[in-house]
Amino acid sequence: MNETLMQYFEWYLDENHELWNDLSRDAEHLAHMGVTMVWMPPAYKGNGGGYDVGYGVYDHYDLGEFCSKGSVETKYGSKEEYLESIKALHTQGIRVLADIVLNHMMGGDQTEHTRAVNVQGHNRMQHDGDYYDVQVWTRFTFPERNNKYSDFEWNASHFTGTDFDQNNGQNHILKFEGKEWSDRVSNEQGNFDYIMGNDIDFSVPEVVEELYRWGIWYTDISGVDGFRLDAIKSIDARFYLGWLKKMKEYGNHPEFAVGEYWSADTNELVQYLKDSGHCMLLFDVPLHYRLSQISTNAQGSDLRKVFDGTLAQREPEYACVFSDNHDTQPGQALYSWVDDWFKPISYTLLLLRDCKYPCVFYGDLYGIPHDQKQPVPNLEKMIWIRKNLLSGDIVDFNDDDPHKTCWLAPGEHPVIVIASIGDWKSRRIDDLSLANRTFVDINWPDHKVVTDENGTADFTCPEGNVTVYILEEDYRTMMKALNE
Ligand code: CA
Repeated sequence: MNETLMQYFEWYLDENHELWNDLSRDAEHLAHMGVTMVWMPPAYKGNGGGYDVGYGVYDHYDLGEFCSKGSVETKYGSKEEYLESIKALHTQGIRVLADIVLNHMMGGDQTEHTRAVNVQGHNRMQHDGDYYDVQVWTRFTFPERNNKYSDFEWNASHFTGTDFDQNNGQNHILKFEGKEWSDRVSNEQGNFDYIMGNDIDFSVPEVVEELYRWGIWYTDISGVDGFRLDAIKSIDARFYLGWLKKMKEYGNHPEFAVGEYWSADTNELVQYLKDSGHCMLLFDVPLHYRLSQISTNAQGSDLRKVFDGTLAQREPEYACVFSDNHDTQPGQALYSWVDDWFKPISYTLLLLRDCKYPCVFYGDLYGIPHDQKQPVPNLEKMIWIRKNLLSGDIVDFNDDDPHKTCWLAPGEHPVIVIASIGDWKSRRIDDLSLANRTFVDINWPDHKVVTDENGTADFTCPEGNVTVYILEEDYRTMMKALNE
């Protein structure tokens, strides 16, 4: 089975609390298209209440059920609607990935007085001055939830640091007295344990116990089939091996996990896979940056070597490849958008070659109105082709032209792709298994290529574009399926 993940959100979705309902209505369409797994955004209440994208976690147990932070519903809807949308996806045979954000919590209910030291932003191992008295928002009692599901209350002893002192009104990274950052995190900025909010301390046994208890509750109640793990380069690398193993015993016995370790250094990702016992896949961040670079410097790029040195090449079974996401889209923290003209080429590379786990971005499939981004042309067709036609080992037809790549996915339903990051391109393909067939270009179906009795024909591609050729009869089947 050819898996295709879909990230079912972008940063600037309408704040109409309708995403879960939209997803329920869209489930059948996604299944027809060939999506096999959907990554849903964080489903629990954030500090921003009904407006929080989901990463400013306030209460992991509030899936849109309690009137906290000014709203019962999350940005995406109510708990009932969330559970309904998971059911709708399951009915269509689509597996569901939950976004798990355990690095930090925000929006404490009360302040506490404790002692902390200022930490340098660019080297978190360096202190500025001595420990001093601070007043911090680290007390979480969840009064609206009133101990339902869990009576665990958080306090400063459960966190390593925070970034706001109520006494002096200043924003600054603070590390609490008696605490150290974890040494099993990325060493970016000296130590990347801290990102934002109140940083959860995974060395405290009762914290780890609570996160296991919560995970079991959540896995049971939601029935999710896997996880997308947020910010793992800031979480003790030992944590998820045990947590994921435990979660497999509950709910739908989720087996699948993909972690967000944001680094362009493939060696660092390969090392993390080792350190975490290969308990999860990782997003192929180096490949994302490669695609982004080609899109901004086509002239100096080599399309034949896109995958060289990426995680997809080094650890193909553990690489989740993607073009863009909610963090790399325009206006966001890790902005590194793959330029629009190159998007169709990037998706043929991800979907129509041999990548095991490609992830399609909502903003690419449906567009981003906030930034006038249109849907990527033919993306729906590519997903369908991947699911229904793609088989066999890829045969490359590259030559001495760095601005062109061409390949054949052979089999009963052959697929031929030719892409150009330069001018108009042509490539002769010679393969006896393709003898006397009529191919159709999915962009312009009137454009047909007929092979001779030796399986020879010239396949072409316009400048800065990509052409996908499939058999005429497969094209008819596809259009019927997609229009149903
Ligand atoms: Ca952390």
